[in-house]
Amino acid sequence: MGGPTRYPLWISGESVPAASGQIYTLVDPATQEAFAEVASAGPEDVERAVAAAHRAFTAGPWRRLNTRERGRLLLRVADLIRQHAEELARTESRNVGKPIREAREEVQLAADCFEYYAGAVNKVGGHTVPVAAPGVSLTFREPIGVCALIVPWNFPIAITAWKLAPALAMGNTVVIKPATQTPLTALRLAELAAEADLPPGVVNVLPGPGGVVGEALVRHPLVRKVSFTGSTEVGREILRLSADGIKRVTLELGGKSANIVFADADLERAVPSAAWSALGNAGQDCCARSRLFVERRIFDTFVTRLADLVQRIRLGAPLDEQTEMGPLVSLAHRERVRGYVRVGQEEGARLLCGGDVPHDDPLGRGAYLRPAIFVDVRPAMRVMQEEIFGPVICAMPFDTEEEAVALANDSRYGLSGSVWTRDLGRALRVARAVETGVLSVNSGHSVHLEAPFGGVKESGVGRELGLAVLDHYSEWKSVFVDTRP
Ligand code: NAD
Repeated sequence: MGGPTRYPLWISGESVPAASGQIYTLVDPATQEAFAEVASAGPEDVERAVAAAHRAFTAGPWRRLNTRERGRLLLRVADLIRQHAEELARTESRNVGKPIREAREEVQLAADCFEYYAGAVNKVGGHTVPVAAPGVSLTFREPIGVCALIVPWNFPIAITAWKLAPALAMGNTVVIKPATQTPLTALRLAELAAEADLPPGVVNVLPGPGGVVGEALVRHPLVRKVSFTGSTEVGREILRLSADGIKRVTLELGGKSANIVFADADLERAVPSAAWSALGNAGQDCCARSRLFVERRIFDTFVTRLADLVQRIRLGAPLDEQTEMGPLVSLAHRERVRGYVRVGQEEGARLLCGGDVPHDDPLGRGAYLRPAIFVDVRPAMRVMQEEIFGPVICAMPFDTEEEAVALANDSRYGLSGSVWTRDLGRALRVARAVETGVLSVNSGHSVHLEAPFGGVKESGVGRELGLAVLDHYSEWKSVFVDTRP
């Protein structure tokens, strides 16, 4: 009675056990209680899922549906996500440990995403091209085929939807590999897609170890496209594995984004944004603005106000409406982040606050860590160069605009970032000069589902979201028609 809930795989429109019969346990990050048992996919399941997706692509009705019908089905998925929003948000909150209020926003984003791409289905098409020949060239946008969608654990339902909705909109079929720790909302999303009447095999979901399931998917000859979000380390491996089959690959990888605050900024907004754009989701955010550069004249005031705010952040149970920061995803991940706090101290950075583990009940049982701010940092330090992926901000002063840009660009990453100033010319100069895929002026927001999102340098290849992503889920085909009599 009341034991952990069982979650099978999802293949060809059905819940099925793993061929090996193996299961693994999910642990609640806030309490360390086992709360779910999930089927652990292996190579045989990859075969079954890819075969189902390939059948659905080649023989099924999906890619042949007229665009209005396909759009309607995606709208129905959006409706079902909204109908089940609270259930999905609670599942996500418990599984990842994220505050319920954030989980609700992410579920809404997933529904919005399906709506957006449902609307795009019959608005993107080809062109007629005036070629230098006696005839006309027509271009078509063809689906690619079976796409492997590999998702990380920090924003599971949102990132699954970012990949799934545009892939489906262009007529592809998919196998989703959720992060090992956080497969639950992807499995539920697949059930809702079936309830919306998407044909069997169009969406398949395989929880399991990344090195087994993810790798087998990337290697599989019938998988034509890999869309991966995760660490730069694994992204590099995926690029290598994809070389043999010349697969289409998009990679959304790590980040170490800069937040540049000039002395003329509106501090009423810049201070809370400096906190939350680095510490939201307990800092487990690829867009986290974890490097804070503040003009020297206001540096001391700024970090004092920031530290005051950060020390008042309410840590608590993910499902508690008042909680502002939940636990990290696991005890193992917390140890990794604490390791960085120690490294920063050894390197000579000064901890202004946080970085310690709360021991009192009930927080003492979970993977909690108090949010930390480092000052007296230097650009070459590991804490300034490596992605910590936890609630740690490194703050340092700068004197000139050129120095701020040079500091921001002193990174192998280039995903996101912010600039705060009331000087419009300077805002635009800095926005153009920072090497990054996404940047916000007087804002800490990175993601607008209507605009392209992605990184430069080692933060990735390709873009998600907006209409730009549709190029990554389709192939241009040119057909020349000779019109000579
Ligand atoms: P991860 O790279 O460990 O895992 C990501 C996914 O890849 C998981 O589903 C995992 O099971 C799978 N995987 C692991 N090894 C694999 C292999 N050898 N072959 C194929 N698949 C494999 O990343 P994570 O720890 O889940 O997520 C954190 C990382 O994701 C951070 O670096 C973060 O910056 C990044 N991230 C980037 C974005 C973005 O849009 N740029 C968004 C969210 C997270």
